[in-house]
Amino acid sequence: MTFIADRLSAIKPSPTIAVAQKARDLQAAGRNIISLGAGEPDFDTPKHIIEAAKKAMDDGLTRYTAVNGTAELQDAIIGKFKRDNDLTYTRNEIHVSCGGKPVLFNAMMATINPGDEVIVPAPYWVSYPDIVVLFGGVPVFVDCPKDADFKMTPAQLEGAITPKTKWLVFNSPSNPTGSCYTEADMKALGEVLKRHPQVWVMTDDIYEHLTYDGFKFTTIAQVVPELKARTLTVNGMSKAYCMTGWRVGFAGGPDNLIKAITKVQSQSITHTSSISQAAAVAALNGPHDFIPTHNAIFKERRDLVVSMLNQANGISCATPEGAFYVYPSIAGTLGRKTPTGKVIGNDEDFVTELLEAEGVAAVHGEAFGLSPHFRISYATGTDLLEDACQRIQRFCGSLS
Ligand code: PMP
Ligand code: GLU
Repeated sequence: MTFIADRLSAIKPSPTIAVAQKARDLQAAGRNIISLGAGEPDFDTPKHIIEAAKKAMDDGLTRYTAVNGTAELQDAIIGKFKRDNDLTYTRNEIHVSCGGKPVLFNAMMATINPGDEVIVPAPYWVSYPDIVVLFGGVPVFVDCPKDADFKMTPAQLEGAITPKTKWLVFNSPSNPTGSCYTEADMKALGEVLKRHPQVWVMTDDIYEHLTYDGFKFTTIAQVVPELKARTLTVNGMSKAYCMTGWRVGFAGGPDNLIKAITKVQSQSITHTSSISQAAAVAALNGPHDFIPTHNAIFKERRDLVVSMLNQANGISCATPEGAFYVYPSIAGTLGRKTPTGKVIGNDEDFVTELLEAEGVAAVHGEAFGLSPHFRISYATGTDLLEDACQRIQRFCGSLS
């Protein structure tokens, strides 16, 4: 018997966080590392958001707030859902937490009974299945390979639903692939969901604003309004607003679900920082012109990375329309040997040897449920990306 709860043995530490930490540790130990591990914009938080936080402190907004945030923040979120998604929510339909991840965590804790099934299209963001498992739920994976643009078809969704299905977790633009579901894709999935009223949708829209090539973002409760009463629309400040460290995420959903989630949070973190909340109000209500400026840079980086990776021996990389990740296949490197005699047997070997040989940190595909791939975050300086891709090319070229 150990002191640690049994349920922890069923999950692992977040692999994306682990890779980012490993890169930091190696850097601190003096190694020349380029970290393409964590998905975090390299841009600073815009100035007007920082000013709002300073003002909040000066104005004494340093006390507890309501569990679901201040009225100002709730109204700013309601305004955001209306403006960007044409979704109407009222204050009692809004949840606010310390990031999108805690929103998902709270929602799962509030709803999952042991044995409940949650459909998770794979590849998936690393935290979805482990959060489900932590509460005794059963993730039901649906394989969405590169040939399908990493997207789930209506027939696959239909095939995965059982009487025990509680949630479909949906993420577009996707982490780790950058793939985006079109409005037509969503409508087709919506037709399936309409036939199964026990299935709720947890849609993770955190990369909403990060789309390229004119892709038009939509969210499922908007395009299939019949599903709004059983959809939790999750979003947050981390990515588009460059506010990862501020820890603000939010969701809109039906009143009774929000009430349950609020109950969970009232017994845990209470609420996210009052200062971060004031910053989020300024971000949501303020100018958004920095977003297209950032996106133009992200798009250039995406094109650079895709082109350079496709020139690497054994790698094949699609061009995604959103987020700031690419998810190249390393199938062409499997079975090859490094100059030190290590065989690349799987994608974990690939990223381990790449880090060892060239100091480039990336996350192996197995962590996201689809191999043999690896994930690169291109939310880092263009010069560094170019250097990293040259290192990857050199590494692939050294395999025999
Ligand atoms: N969902 C996805 C798909 C993500 O990539 C992230 C990034 N970590 C999150 C949710 C959560 O981000 P945060 O908790 O910083 O809002
Ligand atoms: N979402 C980012 C990633 O996938 C940040 C790390 C995390 O929260 O998992 O790398």
